[in-house]
Amino acid sequence: MTDLAASLRQHTQGEVLFTDADRARYATDASIYQQIPVGVFVPKTADDIKSAIDIARDAKVPVLARGGGTSQCGQTTGVALVIDDSKYFRNVVEFDASKRTVKVEPGIVLDHLNAFLKPHGLWFPVDVSTSAQATLGGMAGNNSCGSRSIAYGNMVHNVLSADAWLADGSVVTFGTLDSANGRAKQIGELGQSLATEHRAEIERVWPKVLRRVGGYNLDIFCNQNERPYTADGSVNLAHLLVGSEGTLAFTKSLTLALTPLAKSKVLGVVNFPTFHQAMDAARYIVKLGPTAVELVDRTMIELSLTNPAFAPTIRTALVGSPDAILLVEFSGDDKDALKQKLQQLIELISTLGLPDAVVSMTDDAPQKNLWEVRKAGLNIMMSLKGDGKPVSFIEDCAVPLESLAEYTANLTEVFAKHGTRGTWYAHASVGTLHVRPILDMRRGDATKMRAIAEEASALVRKFKGAYSGEHGDGLCRGEWIEWQFGPAITGAFRQIKQAFDPDNLFNPGKMVDPPKMDDTSLFRFPPAYKTIPIKTILDWSVWNVQNDPVTEATTAPGTGGDAAEGFAKAVEMCNNNGHCRKFDAGTMCPSYRVTRDETASTRGRANTLRMAISGQLGSDGIASDEVHEALELCVSCKGCKRDCPTGVDMAKMKIEHLGNYKAKHGFSIRDNLIARIPVTAPFAAKWPRVFNARNRMPWLAKLGERLFGISAKRSLPAWRSDTVWSTLSRPPKGPVLLGRQALVDAHARGEPCVVLFVDTFNGAFERENVDAAIAVLGAAGYRVHIPRWQMQGDRDDRNLCCGRTFLAVGMVAEARRQAEYLLSALVPFAEVGIDIVGLEPSCLFTLKDEMLAMHLGEEAQAVADHAMMIETFLEREAKAGKLAGLRAKLKPAAAPILVHGHCHQKAFAEISPTLAVLGLIPDAKPSLIESSCCGMAGAFGYDARHFDISMQMAELSLLPAIRNAPDAIIVADGTSCRHQIHDGAQRVAKHAMTVLAEHLA
Ligand SMILES: Cc1cc2nc3c(=O)[nH]c(=O)nc-3n(C[C@H](O)[C@H](O)[C@H](O)COP(=O)(O)OP(=O)(O)OC[C@H]3O[C@@H](n4cnc5c(N)ncnc54)[C@H](O)[C@@H]3O)c2cc1C
Ligand code: SF4
Ligand code: SF4
Repeated sequence: MTDLAASLRQHTQGEVLFTDADRARYATDASIYQQIPVGVFVPKTADDIKSAIDIARDAKVPVLARGGGTSQCGQTTGVALVIDDSKYFRNVVEFDASKRTVKVEPGIVLDHLNAFLKPHGLWFPVDVSTSAQATLGGMAGNNSCGSRSIAYGNMVHNVLSADAWLADGSVVTFGTLDSANGRAKQIGELGQSLATEHRAEIERVWPKVLRRVGGYNLDIFCNQNERPYTADGSVNLAHLLVGSEGTLAFTKSLTLALTPLAKSKVLGVVNFPTFHQAMDAARYIVKLGPTAVELVDRTMIELSLTNPAFAPTIRTALVGSPDAILLVEFSGDDKDALKQKLQQLIELISTLGLPDAVVSMTDDAPQKNLWEVRKAGLNIMMSLKGDGKPVSFIEDCAVPLESLAEYTANLTEVFAKHGTRGTWYAHASVGTLHVRPILDMRRGDATKMRAIAEEASALVRKFKGAYSGEHGDGLCRGEWIEWQFGPAITGAFRQIKQAFDPDNLFNPGKMVDPPKMDDTSLFRFPPAYKTIPIKTILDWSVWNVQNDPVTEATTAPGTGGDAAEGFAKAVEMCNNNGHCRKFDAGTMCPSYRVTRDETASTRGRANTLRMAISGQLGSDGIASDEVHEALELCVSCKGCKRDCPTGVDMAKMKIEHLGNYKAKHGFSIRDNLIARIPVTAPFAAKWPRVFNARNRMPWLAKLGERLFGISAKRSLPAWRSDTVWSTLSRPPKGPVLLGRQALVDAHARGEPCVVLFVDTFNGAFERENVDAAIAVLGAAGYRVHIPRWQMQGDRDDRNLCCGRTFLAVGMVAEARRQAEYLLSALVPFAEVGIDIVGLEPSCLFTLKDEMLAMHLGEEAQAVADHAMMIETFLEREAKAGKLAGLRAKLKPAAAPILVHGHCHQKAFAEISPTLAVLGLIPDAKPSLIESSCCGMAGAFGYDARHFDISMQMAELSLLPAIRNAPDAIIVADGTSCRHQIHDGAQRVAKHAMTVLAEHLA
């Protein structure tokens, strides 16, 4: 296909991605399927798309339009030229607030559109769960439906018109049939005549539910949907494109109907003693006119209760121990009227025999928290370790509400018969409950999937439901189109496809002539799937397990049979849901946020790794250049470790890769310079002027860039002679700082004691932070010990190191050696229960994260259990009422305090202690800057190749927020964050301890 790539390069300005790794990254969506595309094209202009369609058509290569690639049925996979419009087609083309309409390009993401609309009091109400990454083009392609579809309908109910390229490259406007002309009119007339010809059959077989998304929307000519497609009963030809999964045309723009934002919302949480009662009650509840009725079942409740972050919220919603809860939302402008609705709900539930079963929530915050828990429950479910996974293939069948209870009961029996189980959740209001039985597609469960699908379909038919009620047809449900609609209507669908796309250019094999759903050659994990055996450097055994599909219990770590010792199974946790393509709160994924390249997303990296370790990118596996390239821009922020629903921990995977890759290719001088900062520190402290010469002499900096790749645009942290270790008196004197044994003795006497682990960066470059921490701890009444190098025969004025800098370049053996020294110094304190606090997040969290995966035994765990950020320690002590003394010594804040959280603080959910501790300062109202990674990320931003992208990361939100607050005190605990803020905003950022110490009276 080099000709195709060459033509695209010659005739377009777009990005032409044809390497094996590029194609591999676009081979999957959020389904169980995988098809390697012919190539990938990321167009920059509308002309690019037209040219690409023409070039592909002439080359007889199919075209597959793609947005976020979050589809669950395989419709976004294909042996085709994939055209990804999500990077450059993100504009609002026209907006008319008075008419409540907006025209958008197909690649705009729903959340971004709604952020644009919000100031105008409007929104686009098809609120899919993937709102942060689903594009409007993809939503139209799938006829997507939101949680509030009972009030606002599906995508089809909200599209007013579409401009689209047909296979011949012409652009056609699809709107009302009455206004159609040219090709649109011809197609409309064909649709009309097909609908007339098959009217009786349509009326007989068409599911009469709101949530029917299977097949083409032939019923726009004779509506069968619970909700009319248009307000005036007219026929809108754009609705033929909606739900067509890219098989008819390539959408250029969409005109959408908008809805006013409701001013108020209230939530009634109905607690049911049995799941059956919850299902049965839904049909009565919807008569009250709610905007959402969402189910959370017992399993999800329990999962939430076991999660410390969510337990307090879910408890506020529970009355006793319900088997299921329904979240019933009412929205509108008049809060009092909504409260009356809640009262009606309470009365209704009472008449159903359940008095006192409703928890009312009228304030916004508790409602928002509970919706978050509902989403998180699904995420926890998806994080099941082992090869058996909850598989989406019947998860959106829609049945009429009066049959919901019986349908769910019968389907539960089907699961049990096949030795599996499903957790139920989501849209009770419209009879579309999500359920995913746990299946292992590598071990023959394709047969089970088919059997369950067939039995589920029989139930859907019995209850006159829709087999495909939300996620579309794709590869998974394509073959069920004929089952649902019969041969005559399937024939009519074929004629529609023929009229639009006579040469079968667009997404062939979907909607018309689909393959079997259980064709294992189309699976991401076919039975022949194998991984290349490796001896891992880090311990991945916790992922190397199998699970029981009924109890979900997992086997002991290390027993999963992974030839890659658990690493492969950790990589395979990525299910392609695309959540890492988000831009909202959270850290994940800074490199995607600035590049919008699939390669630079966590998903792109996980897919590259998966293909590499399973030998699908050659024999180099984890050590391949393809993996190295995909991980190049990963800043190891650990954002994904926390924000990815299945816990894909790419930062740790990068260490494993680098260890293997560098073992093959060797370490560069730059690697050595970065890694060896901790061992250089004692020497640099002796001759700081020599070591700092590069900062004074621009030519040296330029030479350094040429020779070692360290950006000349950066100043480096300045070495100094008065490091913490060189100036600590030996043995330390004074009431606060104690020697090692003195601290243990003081602890034994019951005096408040703490160990301050001084990292290389604070100790060697910014000792003021260490002095500040000692001052604060002293003011709070603590005895402090700073551990130093304890090895026999060594000098004791040297720093201890967590190994972070060595891990950053893949020198895991050296990192382990450093960690062993550190452990030997810290274990004696952990053993007697003395807390160990740290100042630098990346170093402190190495103790709690990587060191536990470095085969360091129980001692590492003991230290991790006692190690914490200094703010976490102080917050805990404050809560225990032990910081009254410190509080009394603090003078009021004279300026606002803005906090930038280090990525690792955020990854471990430990940023709130910083705010809490700064809040001890009278009149201080510290607030958090909503920021992702600062872009410096250890040594990343010092690398000349990364300078620009590093600054772009900082400019995303951090630097603008700082510039907007010229008088604020800026707090950043990370040394590299402080450096970046200095370089980017020319402002001094301080460690939280320094700010506290400055406020000591
Ligand atoms: C965790 C999770 C939760 C989900 N929740 C929901 C939910 O609440 N409701 C819901 O409806 N769905 C849901 N989905 C499914 C999916 O997210 C939605 O269908 C979403 O709208 C797809 O958007 P996308 O940009 O990812 O589309 P893609 O997957 O990229 O594309 C979808 C289809 O549209 C076609 N297409 C894309 N762009 C164009 C274009 N320009 N022209 C023509 N055709 C095009 C593609 O070829 C494909 O067939 C969920 C998926 C996941 C993984
Ligand atoms: S890395 Fe995580 S968030 Fe991204 S697609 Fe994979 S599972 Fe989803
Ligand atoms: S560690 Fe950070 S940069 Fe790397 S993949 Fe995860 S979120 Fe992205």
